[in-house]
Amino acid sequence: MWAYWQSVPAHWREIPARYRLEGGRCMDCGYIMLPKEDICPVCGSKNIETVILPRKGKVLNYTVVWNALRGYEYYTPYVLAIIELEDGSRIMAQLTDISPSEAKKGMEVEMVLRKTKVSGESGIIAYSYKFRPVIR
Ligand SMILES: [Zn+2]
Repeated sequence: MWAYWQSVPAHWREIPARYRLEGGRCMDCGYIMLPKEDICPVCGSKNIETVILPRKGKVLNYTVVWNALRGYEYYTPYVLAIIELEDGSRIMAQLTDISPSEAKKGMEVEMVLRKTKVSGESGIIAYSYKFRPVIR
């Protein structure tokens, strides 16, 4: 698996950001972005610092996806949720380890790294963050 990632430079570069939820915060207007960008999309500032977003949050709202984008069919139906992280920032992500009927607003969730898609003929497997119910 390690070698797989190394053979895909663009994806490889994104791994730290995806795994650690490494984003950016605009030092001028406070906007938080994921992944980190060079220029703030809100105010145009280049004064961006790196922030590690919290790995836990709660589901604000969600939808069940029945007709997935190409490459994601394997997971249908799946739950796509807007999650408010512990610092108040919001992120859209797939919920995992639950069936759609188990999803609830207000549900506490935590980030995990999971397979997201398999790309066509190349068979390249992409990994990214998903959120699962907090295990107590
Ligand atoms: Zn800004």
